[in-house]
Amino acid sequence: MREIFDTIAAERQRHPWRRLAVRVALLAAIVAFSFWADTREKRAMARRGGASSPRASFAWPAMGTVAEFEAAGDPAMAARMRNVVADAFAEVEEELSVFLTNSVVSRLNRGEAVEVPESGHAATVIGFALETAEASGGAFDPTVGPLMRVWGLRGGGGALPPLNVISNTLASVGWWRVRLVPVGEGRVRISTRGAEIDLGGIAKGYAVDLAVHRLAEAGRTDFLVNLGGNIRVHGAPATGRADWNIAVRDPSGRRPPSPLPRHLRSGEAVATSGSYERFVEINGKRFSHIIDPRIGTPVDNGLASVSVIAPSAMMADAYSTTLFVLGGKAGAAFLATRPGCTAAFIKR
Ligand code: AMP
Ligand code: MG
Repeated sequence: MREIFDTIAAERQRHPWRRLAVRVALLAAIVAFSFWADTREKRAMARRGGASSPRASFAWPAMGTVAEFEAAGDPAMAARMRNVVADAFAEVEEELSVFLTNSVVSRLNRGEAVEVPESGHAATVIGFALETAEASGGAFDPTVGPLMRVWGLRGGGGALPPLNVISNTLASVGWWRVRLVPVGEGRVRISTRGAEIDLGGIAKGYAVDLAVHRLAEAGRTDFLVNLGGNIRVHGAPATGRADWNIAVRDPSGRRPPSPLPRHLRSGEAVATSGSYERFVEINGKRFSHIIDPRIGTPVDNGLASVSVIAPSAMMADAYSTTLFVLGGKAGAAFLATRPGCTAAFIKR
């Protein structure tokens, strides 16, 4: 069996972002999935000269990675749908990017307590990031920014940080410093109390959910949205097919893509976190862009990637980062408490 060594089913419960000035591997690796929903059927139809429903696909740079959109049906409509997706991604980036000086997150990181709508982008994503941080015992932590810098994962890498620098930096990291306080009239005040917020492990998933939600509200169906390996599907991939067959690209590129543990149903999402996608090289060794906030070092646990299937792209995004930190055993225990989630781990 290929390198998928563990599949967790929580089903029994029925249930740089901007180029980061770290090395970015090949485009092929950034788009962590390949997708061939109905290839065999389409080929068979083509051979028979039969008509398969037209499918349009688009790719463009967004939030420091590659966005992809695919839709069945009228190509002109698909192009308009693609614009809705691009607008949703731009809107999320404007509010949540640490690289834009006037974003809500940048204002928070400058020490401002910012009042925002309770169900707006910032409050929703920061709220879910804090929930995930607490539930995972701090394996997921949206305040890892200073550690990213110390390890050169925001540029300027090349040397191992001294231990005392790591421990001093750890003193300013901690999700519990961040507070969301209701202030009435449907607004919350967010304060960081000295911490710095980094939503790189969750915001892309949220952006995908927003795009899917907007298209679904407008009555659109039968499409797939992918933002740097954060994928969500809606409707059906092709006539007569209810499930979406998505595969995880092999991190080394040497082997063919591995199928996920199961197909996606309409509305479901999958995300992959990997050590191969972004990393910094120090003394010839690659250090992953995912930090274990409990010890202050990049994750080095033998995993190449973790994919999580979940009911929303924000969950899949947050949980794939979380499971990459937790590893197989603790990751399995964590995921068993999350309804509707399934994961696949790939060893290095
Ligand atoms: P992903 O590719 O979704 O797994 O997210 C990785 C990104 O999340 C990194 O580039 C950082 O911006 C941020 N990050 C790194 N480590 C963590 C962590 N332990 N918890 C939350 N976010 C993290
Ligand atoms: Mg993530």
